[in-house]
Amino acid sequence: MKVFVLNCGSSSLKYQLINMKNEKVIAKGLVEKIGENISYLNYKTEANNEIEIEEKISDHNQAIEMVLEILQNKEYGVLENMDEINIVGHRVVHGGEKFSGSVLIDEEVIKALKENIKLAPLHNPANIMGIEVSRKLMPNTPDVGIFDTAFHQSMPKKSYLYAVPYKWYEENGVRRYGFHGTSHKYVSERGAKLLGRDYKDLKIISCHLGNGASITAIEAGKVIDTSMGLTPLDGLVMGTRSGDLDTGIIPYIMKERNMNIEEIDQALNKESGVLGISGVSNDFRDIGEAAEAGNKRAKLALDIFCRRVKKYIGSYAALLGRVDLLIFTAGIGENAINVRKKITSNMDCFGIEIDNNKNNCRGKEIKISSDNSKVDVYVIPTNEELVIAREAKNVVEDHVKNIIKELIG
Ligand code: ADP
Repeated sequence: MKVFVLNCGSSSLKYQLINMKNEKVIAKGLVEKIGENISYLNYKTEANNEIEIEEKISDHNQAIEMVLEILQNKEYGVLENMDEINIVGHRVVHGGEKFSGSVLIDEEVIKALKENIKLAPLHNPANIMGIEVSRKLMPNTPDVGIFDTAFHQSMPKKSYLYAVPYKWYEENGVRRYGFHGTSHKYVSERGAKLLGRDYKDLKIISCHLGNGASITAIEAGKVIDTSMGLTPLDGLVMGTRSGDLDTGIIPYIMKERNMNIEEIDQALNKESGVLGISGVSNDFRDIGEAAEAGNKRAKLALDIFCRRVKKYIGSYAALLGRVDLLIFTAGIGENAINVRKKITSNMDCFGIEIDNNKNNCRGKEIKISSDNSKVDVYVIPTNEELVIAREAKNVVEDHVKNIIKELIG
C-alpha cells in the first residue's frame, strides 16, 4: 500500500510518497513560491534521483499535477501510474472541536472544514485547496484529513478555557485548541517505546521547537495542557511569533503607533519572536552565530526563548505532579545543542539533568539525560508525515472493515 502525504501551505506544498509495507519514503519533496514569478519544485527518490525545477507554477492545481507527473516519469519516476497511490493523507491545521480524530473526506467534511476557516485563516484555506485538487486529479483515491488539533482534543475543559466571557466560547469557539498534535503524539508514543514502558503509565513533556514552537503535557496518553491556543500565536516565543503576551499591549500599541488590526496581526505573527528581539533572523543558526560574534540582542533573543520554554516545563511539571520523560523535537529541538543546554540548566529541583557529552549531537534519536537525572530526557526527531500516512491507512482500513461488517450483517 502506498500513501501520498500532502501538506499544503498558502504558497508551498510538501509531499511524501510512503510505502506502508516498510514505512519507507519512496519519494519526497516540496514546491515553493507557488503563484510567484519563479517557483521551485524539488523531488528526491529513495534511489537518490533528484530533480530541481525553476519555473512559474501558477497555483496548487498545477503544482500537484506536476508532482504527480514526475512521480510517473519514465526515467526517474517511481510509479507506473497514478492508481498505485492507494490513499492521500492531508495535513489539516485546524479541526476545531468537530474533529478529535482523522477522517475520511467527503462533501460534509469539506463543508465543516470551510466553517473552520475563520479559526485558521492563514492555514486552512490552503489545506482545503490541496484536498479539492487531490479529489479532482485522483477522483478514485480516498482522501483522509489528519488534524494538527486532534490530539489536543483530549484536553480537559479547565485547560482549554480562557478566562473571558463564557459566551465567547459558546458562541464564537474561543478556546485553546493546540497545534503540532501529530508531532507531539508521534514523539511521545515513540518515547514510551524507547523507554520500554506502557504509554498509559507515563507523564511526558514534549517540546516541539521549530520555527513554530509548542510544548505539551501528556498524562496516560491524554493531553493535560498545551501552549498554543485558539491560534498558533500563543505560548512559546517563536521564530517570528510573540507567544504569550499581555493582551493590554495590543490596544496600547495600536493607539501609540496608529496601527490597524491587520498591521498588529502581521507584527505579532511575522515580525516578533526571536526575529523581533534580535533584529537578525528567525533562524536559530543565524542567531547563534550572531550571538557568538558578540551581538547582544541575538544573545538576548536566545535567552528569552529558552527562559520561556523553561517556565513552561516548570509549570507543566507542577500540573503533572511528576515527569517521567522530557522530549525535544523539531528543527531547534533536534539540532540546537546550546538551546537544549540552556533550557535544562539548573533544573535539578525538577530531577532534570542532561549529560553535556550526550547532548552534543544533532538530528538523532538519543537519550541526553545524565545517569543521575530522575527524568529521562530524549531528543526524538519528529516524523509528522509518517503519522499522517499511518493515520490515513488506519482510517481507510477501518472504513473498509465497517463496510464489510455491514454487508455481512
Ligand atoms: P517549521 O516546520 O516550523 O518551519 P522546523 O521544525 O523545520 O520548523 O525548524 C526550523 C528551524 O530549526 C530553523 O528556523 C532553525 O531555527 C532551526 N534549525 C535547523 N537546523 C538547525 C541547527 N543545525 N542548529 C540550530 N537551529 C537549527
